[in-house]
Amino acid sequence: MTEADSATLHRTTRSWYGVPVDITVSSSNIHRVIVGGVPLPHLGVVNFFSRWGLPLEERLELTCRHELGHVQTLPVPLLHLLFLLWPRQGRRRGGRWLRLLAALVAHQAVWELAAEGYVIATAPPEHWSPRTPAARLLYAGFWGGMTLLAAISTVFAA
Ligand SMILES: [Zn+2]
Repeated sequence: MTEADSATLHRTTRSWYGVPVDITVSSSNIHRVIVGGVPLPHLGVVNFFSRWGLPLEERLELTCRHELGHVQTLPVPLLHLLFLLWPRQGRRRGGRWLRLLAALVAHQAVWELAAEGYVIATAPPEHWSPRTPAARLLYAGFWGGMTLLAAISTVFAA
């Protein structure tokens, strides 16, 4: 683990299932995550809102932890996606493409919840807790909005 400068944090590690992980996060909110040699583009939108008002160093540390959380919790959204795409009989909502779109939205929402859950499970509360009323509102908005999005799109896609 090294910190190149005040605006960038780089970490190399291994996932619990043995895949090498290379994460670089920066204050510009452009994150580079390479898992097993495969680059995974990822928007920093969730981290931008979830780390509102935190000092830069903590923001980068928690953002890096969130990105690692995506890798560590990967089996959860994959199992969820497998469940949604599993062929089944009976009445289904919408057309095939709409259901596929809903499944992808649900997959992404569940993955965001899992990654941020990883942050909460592994970092001390005094690090990830929002500190201002605006930050608390944004963080609650993330959890509420993402849970709602995951639930609605899962029901639609299932
Ligand atoms: Zn994320």
